[in-house]
Amino acid sequence: MTANAPITQDVLTIPRKLAETGKTNIIGLTRDQLREALIAAGTAEKQAKMRVGQIWQWVYYFGLRDFGQMTNLAKDYRALLAENFEITLPEVVTRQISEDGTRKYLVRIQGGHEVETVYIPEEGRGTLCISSQVGCTLTCSFCHTGTQKLVRNLTAGEIVGQVMLARDDLGEWPVKGAPNEATSRLVSNIVLMGMGEPLYNFDNVRDAMNIVMDGEGIALGRRRITLSTSGVVPEIARTATEIGCLLAVSFHATTDEVRDQLVPINKRWNIATLLEALRAYPGLSNSERITFEYVMLDHVNDSKEDAYRLVELLRGIPAKVNLIPFNEWPGAPYKRSSGNRIHAFADIIHNAGYASPIRTPRGEDIMAACGQLKSATERARKSRAQIAAEAGLEG
Ligand code: SAH
Ligand code: SF4
Repeated sequence: MTANAPITQDVLTIPRKLAETGKTNIIGLTRDQLREALIAAGTAEKQAKMRVGQIWQWVYYFGLRDFGQMTNLAKDYRALLAENFEITLPEVVTRQISEDGTRKYLVRIQGGHEVETVYIPEEGRGTLCISSQVGCTLTCSFCHTGTQKLVRNLTAGEIVGQVMLARDDLGEWPVKGAPNEATSRLVSNIVLMGMGEPLYNFDNVRDAMNIVMDGEGIALGRRRITLSTSGVVPEIARTATEIGCLLAVSFHATTDEVRDQLVPINKRWNIATLLEALRAYPGLSNSERITFEYVMLDHVNDSKEDAYRLVELLRGIPAKVNLIPFNEWPGAPYKRSSGNRIHAFADIIHNAGYASPIRTPRGEDIMAACGQLKSATERARKSRAQIAAEAGLEG
């Protein structure tokens, strides 16, 4: 147990007032929404576009949270902003740092709900895995998020906020006046692979990603963002046309019989329907392949026959296959496939001409992996409660 203990777990309680202020949070507003809000607060219409540009740069380029420091705005205008607006991120409740540098943030959003955000540093880059919902309405049988009862969509601000709080923690905002050293980015990539089904919260995800991609702010390229869906067929095309990011699909099985079990949304949109939508995906090309995620479940979906069937199904689709060794959670009805089975599967896919990387588990000591998000925290709480009970501290 102790060998796997996280290196640090510090509790950062940032007392941020939410809701009660009655002010409009700037984080998460699109440029158009911000413009309208500024006009409604008394900004002259002629000036509104320019003000949006100025505020945008402070908030999303420099990461500033205080209107008082927006030095290119007149003092009384800064006061007007402070009266009507706030610049508020969700609250980081705990941060855990794994032995391999992976950071997991437990983030509290309005209403007291919690989601998790995970930062995975890699050589010369870093990927931030963000959540789009609290829980998930879908009930994939291998995914712990799917067992959570409560579901609420995150707002655009809560989605952008996850990116911003990671940049805060990593110290990634440029400093005004300091030379802009073009070093590699810490958060260079974003994957929508945390809690929730992003295509069931499309508008907020779209607005948030458009804010993150905006060239005068965080300015992350569209190809550095990957949205993962379980297969919400009617919304798939909009991912290309309204966001333009890369697409990953939680495929996980090669027959409808098995996929119905693993990814129950398959009963609504089966493999053939899903593949048809993917073949028609706007912008699909060899340089913008679709990632097929495939969780390796021992003797469930990991046979050689499965691998050959998968190759057949992929025919004609610019694709790569991401093999994910199952992350086991207590009470899970599956086991992780053996290394041998995973490699045999990967070889078949690879020999058919598709990239088939096996995802290296990261942050295992802090349970930062797919499908485990949030659940670990719930367990930690439970064990703390148990400890308290044992020590007679309860009540
Ligand atoms: N709801 C979206 C995105 C979040 S899940 C989706 O399903 O695509 C991100 C990825 O993690 C998905 O491919 C999902 O199937 C996978 N996943 C979920 N639980 C997992 C587990 N216990 N082990 C390995 N991968 C898991
Ligand atoms: Fe939801 Fe994705 Fe988990 Fe399925 S795998 S329950 S769609 S989060």
